[in-house]
Amino acid sequence: MTTVRWLIDASYFVVAVLFILGLKAMSSPVTARRGIVWAGVGMVLATVVTLFSPDMRNHGLILVALAVGGGAAWWSGKVVKMTDMPQMVAIYNGMGGGAAAAIAALEFARGEIHGLVPTALATLGALIGAVSFSGSCIAFAKLQGLMERAWRLPAQNAVNVLLAVVTIALGIVIVASGQIDVRSILAFFVLALVLGAVVTLPIGGADMPVVISLFNAFTGLAVGFEGFVLNNPALIIAGIVVGAAGTLLTQLMAKAMNRPIRNILFSPISGAAQAGGTVEGTMREVSALDVAAVMRYAQSVVVVPGYGMAVAGAQNKVWEMAQLLEKAGVGVRFAIHPVAGRMPGHMNVLLAEAGVPYEKIFDLEEINADFPSVDVALVIGANDVVNPVARTDKSSPIYGMPILDVDRAHNVIVIKRGKGAGYSGIENALFFAENCRMCYGSAQGVVAEIIAQIKALEG
Ligand code: NDP
Repeated sequence: MTTVRWLIDASYFVVAVLFILGLKAMSSPVTARRGIVWAGVGMVLATVVTLFSPDMRNHGLILVALAVGGGAAWWSGKVVKMTDMPQMVAIYNGMGGGAAAAIAALEFARGEIHGLVPTALATLGALIGAVSFSGSCIAFAKLQGLMERAWRLPAQNAVNVLLAVVTIALGIVIVASGQIDVRSILAFFVLALVLGAVVTLPIGGADMPVVISLFNAFTGLAVGFEGFVLNNPALIIAGIVVGAAGTLLTQLMAKAMNRPIRNILFSPISGAAQAGGTVEGTMREVSALDVAAVMRYAQSVVVVPGYGMAVAGAQNKVWEMAQLLEKAGVGVRFAIHPVAGRMPGHMNVLLAEAGVPYEKIFDLEEINADFPSVDVALVIGANDVVNPVARTDKSSPIYGMPILDVDRAHNVIVIKRGKGAGYSGIENALFFAENCRMCYGSAQGVVAEIIAQIKALEG
């Protein structure tokens, strides 16, 4: 082995360690930023050392591609809003799947793949990568509002199965023949791309983040397989790490929404098609002054943020309000549902950004038992994650989803703009409960008003 090759392989080992440590650090909000930096450094190192591979050609083209891709990523990372993060993840993930499929396509075209195992791995990676690419593009278009409605074909599931069977059969023919037949390979790629799009088209927005996470796992697998084909350990390890993390995240989200993955893919629900009983009663309004007074004289307040807080960008004001209350002797905690907002960890990121200490933030399992002894549960722009029909109404599409039991608190105050439904499109029984009051308005303005009223009460 030459010294250059040895140095490259040693660097890939360091890259693998950085990826694994980075991912481990990302599992806690306290160390997540460090984890992202480590993984990023790993990625830069992997890219730079690859440029020194003895058989590397076309350095000019590679550098142009790096500048264009890196520049676009840098710019989009700077301007993306927190609420648009899921579609950003979708499109980046799609690019990863597409790149894996492109590697296979190129190696096939160059006639560089020889032997049964490498051909099988390249074909498998190409299939998974192409499905992930086209599916992620559809997911991006839906979440970005470019595609308003869910498209469902007649006999959708039969079409999905047929497409999958034909594509896999074609893949087997390519592997078994050992021949590079351009027409079969082209047909295989086209079918795989169509499969990804057709499977994703009927899936409604509510399930989309889970699907994105699933495609993320697919992309990891595809990259890992192509890593074997290229004999590149950094790709293999990155692929395995992404594939495993994506699979676990998908399971976690599906569990938190109580939607088995097979239901998400094969019995998708879209906003308009959702069932669930209607709720009787009236919603009672309360003023910001009353909200300020109830909280100022309470002993314990639990703030429950949701998607509306993210849209309003109210996290800084919310933390300012919490600090004022604490100064007045009120115990304030934050409760975060695993799928509050539009991506896992959405609320944790926003609260951390506002400076809320981690020890004040509690998960569903940690805090649910405490609600019966909580004086005020302040729900800010959350809806589905506090809807008690998930416990009580078997006909509801969210039945069985674990929720934050805010309805069990002595008083519940909900800040939202009006009578808009949550993401699942269903009515929330909490808003009609005896112990619940509604404070209408956009979260940022309402919380600012509450802050002013608390200050006035303090004199
Ligand atoms: P929801 O989407 O259920 O509800 C958000 C509420 O915020 C709405 O009812 C809306 O009511 C209110 N709102 C909107 N804008 C504002 C504003 N400017 N100020 C105040 N309120 C506002 O949010 P949740 O966080 O409770 O639930 C998340 C949903 O997303 C769940 O259904 C979950 O399953 C789903 N989901 C989440 C994923 C994740 O990983 N986090 C993944 C997949 C799905 P109004 O219009 O009246 O203001």
